[in-house]
Formats: sequence, C-alpha cells, structure tokens
Amino acid sequence: MKFCPKCEVRLKKNNSNSVLSCPKCGYAESGSKETKKNKQDEIKSEINILDENEGKETLPTIKIDCEKCGNDQAVWWMLQTRSADEPTTQFYRCIKCNHTWRNYA
Ligand SMILES: [Zn+2]
Ligand SMILES: [Zn+2]
Repeated sequence: MKFCPKCEVRLKKNNSNSVLSCPKCGYAESGSKETKKNKQDEIKSEINILDENEGKETLPTIKIDCEKCGNDQAVWWMLQTRSADEPTTQFYRCIKCNHTWRNYA
C-alpha cells in the first residue's frame, strides 16, 4: 500500500481507473502500470508506403514483366531507405494486380 507524500494518509484506490489518490488532499498517483510503447505502429513495411490506388495516375509507368500475373506494365518510384548510406531503392507496382516489388539490381 502507498501513502500520500504530502500528508501521509493512506491512498485509496479509485475503482474506475485504478488510480491511487489521497482522500485528504486529492493527491493522485497512477499506480505502477508501465506504459509500454506500441512498437507495431513503428514497424511499417517500406513496401506498403503507397496505398493501393494512390499515385496510379501520377507515377510513371515502365515496361517490365510482373512476376505474379505476367502483365508487362508497372508504375515505379524511388525511395530512400532509412540509412543514409544505402542507395535509393526503385520500386515497381504492377498496374494490373498491384503486386509491388523492388529493384534489387
Ligand atoms: Zn494527501
Ligand atoms: Zn501483376
């Protein structure tokens, strides 16, 4: 159990939000719950940066074979990967099936 640092009264637990608070002075302490960072938000596949239909009209097209559906036209764009010393990566997306892949050349 915990006590108020100001008036040393035992802190009472608020049932609705599990916050410990002093009934005398109103001091509140938010328990020992650790706030864990949600890392899932940070992990974004760099290949999914563009939405399905985004940029279809504005991106340049290139004649290249889609390994998935065999279509021979794809849009392409350049993307700087996270570390600065890596070269810019070229991405392709099939205009037919939206299959996206990168140029490893
Ligand atoms: Zn108090
Ligand atoms: Zn395709």
